Amino acid sequence: MGRGTCMAVALVAGMGCSAAKETNPMQELSEQYVKLVLAVGQHDPDYVDAFYGPPEWRAATTKRPLTEIEAEAARVAAGLAAAAPSKGADPLVVLRHRYLTRQLDALRTRVAMLGGRRLTFDEESKALYDAVAPHHDEKDFEGILAQLEQLLPGRGSLLDRYTRFRDAYVIPPARLDATFKAAIEACRRRTLEHVQLPPGESFTVEYVTGKSWSGYNWYQGNYRSLIQVNTDLPVFADRAIDLACHEGYPGHHVYNVLLEKTLVRDRGWPEFQVYALFSPQSLIAEGTANYGIDIAFPPADRLTLEREVIFPAAGLDPSAAERYYAVMGLVDRLSYAGNEAARRYIDGQIDAGAAASWLERYGLYAPARAQQRVRFVDQYRSYVINYNLGKDMVAHYIDARSAGDHGRRWAAFTELLSSPRLPSGLAPAGDGR
Ligand SMILES: [Zn+2]
Repeated sequence: MGRGTCMAVALVAGMGCSAAKETNPMQELSEQYVKLVLAVGQHDPDYVDAFYGPPEWRAATTKRPLTEIEAEAARVAAGLAAAAPSKGADPLVVLRHRYLTRQLDALRTRVAMLGGRRLTFDEESKALYDAVAPHHDEKDFEGILAQLEQLLPGRGSLLDRYTRFRDAYVIPPARLDATFKAAIEACRRRTLEHVQLPPGESFTVEYVTGKSWSGYNWYQGNYRSLIQVNTDLPVFADRAIDLACHEGYPGHHVYNVLLEKTLVRDRGWPEFQVYALFSPQSLIAEGTANYGIDIAFPPADRLTLEREVIFPAAGLDPSAAERYYAVMGLVDRLSYAGNEAARRYIDGQIDAGAAASWLERYGLYAPARAQQRVRFVDQYRSYVINYNLGKDMVAHYIDARSAGDHGRRWAAFTELLSSPRLPSGLAPAGDGR
């Protein structure tokens, strides 16, 4: 993989590549960053989301004290500060330097948190994800809830009526795999019309239980992913396209494939062989994965696909698709209620039971889903902002560069997926709604 390999060999053998080493200290610093991420992973099982660098780097990782990891990270940070690219450098090299510096800052925050440092929700999201989600109160959601009251008349609470409505759109377990495969095929075909992917890219799908998330993409390197779908709770019709786009095409799988192709293989930048979950990269990853759903299938296209492919594959009545998406479009606008429940819970203003109640009342989570979501917040904390705020920030960035032109939209999106851009390098997303 080019210069990265050269550097690794040079360090081991103590020979060769010295010119590259002198002129490009970034290679050595980024390799040290990768090893630091692996070292933090010894303390935090969720931290290393993906690693496909030299296996001996992982094998050589022993559990080092957090203070030692912090001291080493401080040395790498000083090295990075001294290695800033000159004016007029390749813009991608400038982005790389800024990105690695910020990723390392986030690593140091995570190390401090593992050592017992307490941060508020907003302090944490700023430090780890380079963004702060807008604040909302109950009134901000009441208008949307009132519209849903109109759409879903009848007896019982709105949550009861919405839950009954949605129960008619569960994908039967026996049809789940066929429906999900049809969705992935449609998302892949649509993506390949606009994005050139390297030959041999592929993924495997597995169905799992006992997780706090609904789907996960584990990138394995070599252009391969393992996509896991959680079947603890019934899977609704909208999840087929959402999961296929988000985890697969043009979401996480495509993002990881493009990073491996353009940054690891073409440029030889070792730091992209590792993905630290609690880092700014996650806002870009989740934001692009969620906005990728809308890029691949804008609302009218999506409705056609649901009617013609997904609902039939799931054995659901295609004529019911339009009403389903009218309701789900409104429910989607309640997503910031989830951030609010998480913020209040993490900041100690409410307990787990009250957080679940808040999700039920303002986010229309059915009780079992609200409890699953609180478990997600226990595990991932302010990570929740990466989905909706990330999507809005990415949408703003892409829309500002494409002026509504479909082809330019895909081009800007592909460029974002292939470059080390930070959340703070995207334009702000207004009030985030
Ligand atoms: Zn995701």
